[in-house]
Amino acid sequence: ISLANQIAAGEVVERPASVVKELIENSIDAGATQIEIDIEQGGAKRIRLRDNGAGIVQDELALALSRHATSKISSLDDLEAIQSLGFRGEALASISSVSRLRLTSKPPAQETAWQAWVEGRDMEVQTSPAAHPDGTTVDVVDLFYNTPARRKFLRTAKTEFSHIDEVIRRIALVRFDVALTLRHNQKEVRQYRRADSDSARQQRLAQICGKAFAAEALQVKAEHDQVQLRGWIAPAASCRHQSDIQYLYVNGRMMRDRLLLHAVRQAYADTLAEDRSPSFVLYLELPAIDVDVNVHPAKHEVRFHRARQIHDFVVQALRPALVQSAS
Ligand code: ADP
Ligand code: MG
Repeated sequence: ISLANQIAAGEVVERPASVVKELIENSIDAGATQIEIDIEQGGAKRIRLRDNGAGIVQDELALALSRHATSKISSLDDLEAIQSLGFRGEALASISSVSRLRLTSKPPAQETAWQAWVEGRDMEVQTSPAAHPDGTTVDVVDLFYNTPARRKFLRTAKTEFSHIDEVIRRIALVRFDVALTLRHNQKEVRQYRRADSDSARQQRLAQICGKAFAAEALQVKAEHDQVQLRGWIAPAASCRHQSDIQYLYVNGRMMRDRLLLHAVRQAYADTLAEDRSPSFVLYLELPAIDVDVNVHPAKHEVRFHRARQIHDFVVQALRPALVQSAS
């Protein structure tokens, strides 16, 4: 079981930032509105996340660490099976197999909190009562301590932390309803407050993308045939904002989709003489049946069933804002 977990972990738990991403997604899935993330030494030493979500009941705590753990893979020769191993339902088990992980949780309706961790050669799940407010804490210590080859691949604490920072930025840009705090070595580095109003959202946008971008970006809002595009796009002549503001979300998930990037570039090229690298934060929403996000969840790939139409819609949707900015 632990071998299978480690193999799965090797595929998706690339670095501390991927752990942070999985943990935040779990918190958000649990309805958390407040998430605190504590990082030590770029995450190599510790990644601790605390949320105020629904929690995990005592009976399911052990399951959360061992879910989908099967004995299907018993040796490394089983290559076929290894490649078919997905990551869904395996994040905690995988992370737990390559770190010292402690999961502590208290659903509001449960009187005491409980804690679970794996121990020993057989990686058996242990549980005990614990002290914890409503919600969940996942404490990941010594990431990759038992996979030295992976640990060697970690960069400096500063670099690993900057990846974590970016993962959190990406989430903060799409979940304005969730408050996020990020600390590195006990020092508060980011504080994204809950943003329920337009002005609060504008403030968070400025915090993440810079004041210049927030001030100059033009709002995008278009809808056609159940497909909606919203967000902000920087006007032509402004290049004062920081580079690399290229955030694209499809149904709430950050994507690096070629088709969409192409559409954005084309919209720029159509309206503007210069060929600048565009800056944007865009949210595409479309019916779930029109899109297949399972192509590779970790690689931000997506497949549209009406690719041509989606592409052209995005080009059309961006044009008015860009034309306005060019004049
Ligand atoms: P998945 O998220 O794909 O179900 P994970 O391994 O990430 O798999 O999590 C396993 C399970 O543990 C989740 O399905 C959920 O029931 C529970 N869980 C994990 N993190 C939390 C959390 N922060 N709050 C509540 N439940 C959680
Ligand atoms: Mg998960």
